[in-house]
Order: sequence, then structure tokens, then C-alpha cells
Amino acid sequence: MHIIEIYKSIQGESSFTGLPCVFVRLAGCNLRCSWCDSEYTFSGGSKMSSPAILTEIQRLSPTGGLVEITGGEPMLQDRELIPFFHQLLALHYQVLLETSGERPLELVPREVHKIVDVKCPASGEHLRFRHENLATLTPLDELKFVLASRDDYDYAREFIRAHGLHSNPARLILSPAFRKGATGARSTENCLLDPRELAQWMLADNLDARLGLQLHKFIWEPQLKGV
Ligand code: SF4
Repeated sequence: MHIIEIYKSIQGESSFTGLPCVFVRLAGCNLRCSWCDSEYTFSGGSKMSSPAILTEIQRLSPTGGLVEITGGEPMLQDRELIPFFHQLLALHYQVLLETSGERPLELVPREVHKIVDVKCPASGEHLRFRHENLATLTPLDELKFVLASRDDYDYAREFIRAHGLHSNPARLILSPAFRKGATGARSTENCLLDPRELAQWMLADNLDARLGLQLHKFIWEPQLKGV
């Protein structure tokens, strides 16, 4: 697989926020979200064999724990990634997959926790969501809406209602987008949407979902990579 980086840090997103996690970041993405903070993944990376990746994961986390496969868009390398998921699961790692929701997810093992983005209009990529992926979701999976505006919030709310997704509110995540190229202070000033406003909208609408902040952007300076 083409790998950008493998590192251990604190999980900053999803219902696993705050837990130690090994991140395996794969190269390449076929979307171009307007607020993307991972453009450095679009090209480059080093080719690594699955055994070499496993060795590095075991070095970083020898006693099991969380491993997140992220990108870029990891499912662009699904031919190698699907067997790799099975290898990780056989070693008793808890496996997370961060994906844009644009690639087919039917072949992802059910034991993998899928964290699937539903892109909203301000991303410029909201028409790329693969609706068939909703049928692949299990109770382990999460849907994440990254929001940059009130229009995005309205879109997410209507998506949740239209698809009857309320049954598992803890696994519906609404998260303010972070300003692209943000540097310096670890502050909500860098959010494109004020989390306080988002909280007020969710409460006013009785929207059963989780408000998520990208914790790693508040622990470390927002421009740092590999944290
Ligand atoms: S899907 Fe992710 S990596 Fe790809 S452009 Fe969007 S935010 Fe960036």
C-alpha cells in the first residue's frame, strides 16, 4: 500500500475520542473538499508491504488497542486493504476506518468500525456520497458531518431525518470544519463554524446527535502533522 505516515497519538474524532490510537494514513484521494486539511496526502507516500505495516503497528502498540486506517481516501487501495483488515482483526486490534463515503464499503469486514463522512454542500463534494453505503452500516459504525455553515447544518439535519438515522444518536457526529491552513493558537477561532452556535442549533432542533470537536487540533497546534 502507499503510506504517508504511521504514528501513535490520541484519537481526536469519533466516539473513540481521547483514546490512544495508531494511525495508518494512506496516500491518495479522489475528492477535493474545500476545507481539506490533508492535502499533503494527495500524492507521494512510500510503498509498504502489509507485513511491514503490521510490524510498525506492533512496534507502536504491542498489546493491541485501536488502529485507525485513514487518508486521503483509504478505500482507493481496497484490494490490499480488505485482506489487511482481516489480518489486523486476527491480531485482536480494534480497527477503525475513516472514509469519505464515496467508495463502495460492502467488502469491509463487519468488525471494522466505519466512520463514514457525509459531505455537506460547503465541501463542494456533497453530490459524491454513495447512498448504497447506508445499507452497509452496522451498529458499530458512525456517520460524520463536517459543517462549515448554517446551510451545512440544515443539510445534515435533513439528511438524518430523511434517512431515519436517529436510532443511534451517539454515532451521528456533527463537527465544525477547521479553517484550512490554520496556524498558531489552539482555539475555536479556527473553526469555520462556531461550536457554540452549532450546539444552540442542535438543542433548538432537538437533534439527537453528538457534537464533535477535532480534539487533536486543541491538544496540539493546528498546523502540526503526525499528531
Ligand atoms: S475526502 Fe478527506 S482527504 Fe479527501 S479531499 Fe476530502 S477531506 Fe481531504
